[in-house]
Amino acid sequence: MACKHLESLELRPPGPNQAVYREDCTQCFDSIDDSTGLDVCLYCFNGGCTGDRNHSQLHYARSQHPLVLNIRRTKRVIERDEPRQKMSKLAISAETEADRFDTHLVVRCYECGIDDVDTTSARIASVVDGVMKANTFSRQEEVKAWEQEMTSCEHVLTLAQEPARAIESQDLGHCSMCSLQENLWLCLQCGNLGCGRAQFGGVGGQSHGLAHADASHHAVAVKLGSITPEGTADVYCYQCDEERVDEDLGKHLAHWGILLAERQKTEKSLTEMQIEQNLKWEFSMTTEDGKELKPLFGPGLTGLKNLGNSCYLASTAQCLFSLPQFQKRYFHPEDQPSQVQEPAQDLETQLRKIADGLLSGRYSKPDSDVVASEYSAEVPCQKGLAPSMLKHLVGRGHVEFSTMRQQDAFEFLLHLFKLINRSQHPPALGDPTDAFRFVMEQRLQCLSCKKVRYSTEEQDNISVPLPVRKIERLADQSESSGSASEYEPVTFKECLDSFTAEEVVELTCVSCGSKDGFTKRSLFKTFPAVLAVNARRIMQVNWVPTKVDVPVIVGDDPITLDGYKSPGKQDSEELMPEDAAAAQPAFTANPEALANLEQMGFPTARCEKALHATGNTDANAAMEWLFAHMEDPDID
Ligand SMILES: [Zn+2]
Ligand SMILES: [Zn+2]
Ligand SMILES: [Zn+2]
Ligand SMILES: [Zn+2]
Ligand SMILES: [Zn+2]
Ligand SMILES: [Zn+2]
Ligand SMILES: [Zn+2]
Repeated sequence: MACKHLESLELRPPGPNQAVYREDCTQCFDSIDDSTGLDVCLYCFNGGCTGDRNHSQLHYARSQHPLVLNIRRTKRVIERDEPRQKMSKLAISAETEADRFDTHLVVRCYECGIDDVDTTSARIASVVDGVMKANTFSRQEEVKAWEQEMTSCEHVLTLAQEPARAIESQDLGHCSMCSLQENLWLCLQCGNLGCGRAQFGGVGGQSHGLAHADASHHAVAVKLGSITPEGTADVYCYQCDEERVDEDLGKHLAHWGILLAERQKTEKSLTEMQIEQNLKWEFSMTTEDGKELKPLFGPGLTGLKNLGNSCYLASTAQCLFSLPQFQKRYFHPEDQPSQVQEPAQDLETQLRKIADGLLSGRYSKPDSDVVASEYSAEVPCQKGLAPSMLKHLVGRGHVEFSTMRQQDAFEFLLHLFKLINRSQHPPALGDPTDAFRFVMEQRLQCLSCKKVRYSTEEQDNISVPLPVRKIERLADQSESSGSASEYEPVTFKECLDSFTAEEVVELTCVSCGSKDGFTKRSLFKTFPAVLAVNARRIMQVNWVPTKVDVPVIVGDDPITLDGYKSPGKQDSEELMPEDAAAAQPAFTANPEALANLEQMGFPTARCEKALHATGNTDANAAMEWLFAHMEDPDID
């Protein structure tokens, strides 16, 4: 019996910007490395696992998309007599996936009940081919993010090309100094073709491209075969010895007869190869004092892989999902996944996926492929989960979190809280970020008439100031102490003390009219179940935000917060008149600080607001406030 769906017009290869989930399931971390492989839907390219959970079957039941491509990957046994080579720019020696794994493909039809559909028809063959050639979802996101980091240089911008001609076509072109026809670099200045370096996977090369650049001093070359239909390619500047972006690539290539639209991507780009390298699981299994670390396995003991610089995401996720509130909210292995159009784009689904990944223990198993070092194969570690779907979803549309750059874990936590807070929560489970919420009470007292005003604000974190005390060192000591901190350690209690300390602010009293000012103090009216604390390490040094490395000592002993609880209004205190309290006390901004801030280009209204909020004396403090509140909806 033949499958009747093969000629369906709905079957089309994935477009260049379409996500293809061909690494792991969109509902869980089961992947192509499992014994039954992963099904990729040939209609919408959703990835579904095929083991005991069978999210592929679920996808079929819900979407009625009958045809899937089953991808199964098995490890190839490689004899290695030398340690792996390290990747460096241009000296491309990365192992390719094909060197390490065998990939098994089979097309199945759920509706016709056929397990090995004949794929010789042109339509189905082109879809299968498109799925396998498409960048995997995670790779696509990473390539995009890395490419944003690259810039141009003067050599690219001022490139003067010699008289135009068409270089030899793809079938005939070869290195000008040898007969190699692949791994070729085109000199954008003179049109020379030169081969690259030899690559690990058996791709030959004798570095004739580099030799040409050295001899001719021509700077800019493009790797043929890395050119994408979208018009990007690997561009390298030999003068700068850096990868570059060429905004005029289309024009520069057309000069040598290469028209972008006509080419298909055939080789891995430099960026893709670097990412492959960066994704390799490298870590040290010894502590700083030389003790060997022991790998652990089991529920709650699952590692997260680093995606570029994503340790901020990994540490935040590990912290949150170690909390009972997050576990209770998102870890429900017995539940059927909720029905959504695109699971990979759904926050609820992705948070449940990461909860299951981290907490179930299902993925916390020794993997013989992952050893601590090249030379001690005895202690296998776990592979770790790649949280690419979550990273992409949470970072989507965010100017910083969508990149591969290093980020601040606290900023990320607040961003994630915002997304979670906005999402829907089943009444029985509630919002897990509620556990972080508490109320601060601020007390203002007029120095002259002693009347008081209380106001409250709900928060989900505190940012505590760090007492900064530089360690004075003798000149000869600084050498031996190496990278040790130049600041005295402070205790967490000291930070809290200074956070809740009383200060004097300049305000005009609405009750007695005095300009003597007020004392101001903020204390906790309620306490959260979980208190998120940010240590304010960024100090303004000469108007430049600078990170100061002050060690904060948080001991293992319980910390009592009773002393930071607001006692509330006392019987002996007289409140400011109600009507007057409703109106803002008249406020005059400190003229010197105001002028300072205005000079920096902040609008006057914002400067006044910032000075009002920070005690009306210090332009630095006000500026810090301005940066922190830049995106407040009510800033103006
Ligand atoms: Zn069928
Ligand atoms: Zn699954
Ligand atoms: Zn589908
Ligand atoms: Zn050559
Ligand atoms: Zn040249
Ligand atoms: Zn350059
Ligand atoms: Zn007063």
